[in-house]
Amino acid sequence: MLTQISPNVYILPFDSHRDRPNLGYIHGEKYSVLVDAGNSEAHLTAMLVAIEEAGLPAPKIALITHWHWDHTFGMHAFPGTTMTHIKTNEILNTITEWEWAPKAMAKRLETGEECEFCDTHMQIEYDNVNDIKVVTADIEFSGDLTLNLGRVTVEVTPVTNPHSDDGAIVFIPEDKVLFAGDADTGDFYKLDGGYDADKFYSYIKTVDKVPYETYIHGHLAPMTRLEVSKLRKEIEEEEL
Ligand SMILES: [Zn+2]
Repeated sequence: MLTQISPNVYILPFDSHRDRPNLGYIHGEKYSVLVDAGNSEAHLTAMLVAIEEAGLPAPKIALITHWHWDHTFGMHAFPGTTMTHIKTNEILNTITEWEWAPKAMAKRLETGEECEFCDTHMQIEYDNVNDIKVVTADIEFSGDLTLNLGRVTVEVTPVTNPHSDDGAIVFIPEDKVLFAGDADTGDFYKLDGGYDADKFYSYIKTVDKVPYETYIHGHLAPMTRLEVSKLRKEIEEEEL
């Protein structure tokens, strides 16, 4: 079921067991936008059904925050236009070549191409890993982007962050809500969940300038600015 965050913003809350992130929905007068496409067709479908059950119009665009499987593997099943940063699309393009079979997946774990946490959760989400389908987005952007949904706008800003080599934050100024992808989290692919301090502080500097009141991380409950600053302190004390 959808949770309403603000007048125009909703989420389908995250599910840690299946590593399903929060999916966002921004309701505009002219058209509506999804934030991230989910970790599978089943996850995306759960979101689309929840939107319909809430009596809201189907989203026309799915905006992708970063390339990780849990945010992108539902893209192929989205019945609209997908959109992401050029770097995200480049990485997705590489992954479209990957074979999804137990042997090939085990090999990628050995070489370090895949992260263990991701592999474990893919096995939980998918009864059959052969069902995994990876596609690139229909539209790619290389700088800041503003979408006018009618009565509500969406500002997309690519950011350097400690979580992945790509990544964009999504801000809805009318509602003061910010979708951060997983940008606060460490890098599970390169640093085993650890943090690059320079990228962490660069990210904070950028995101702190955004006048948000509600902060939505991919795998945590929505936070106030005060709760975000507490999280930052914890990360600084424990990880840096
Ligand atoms: Zn991620």
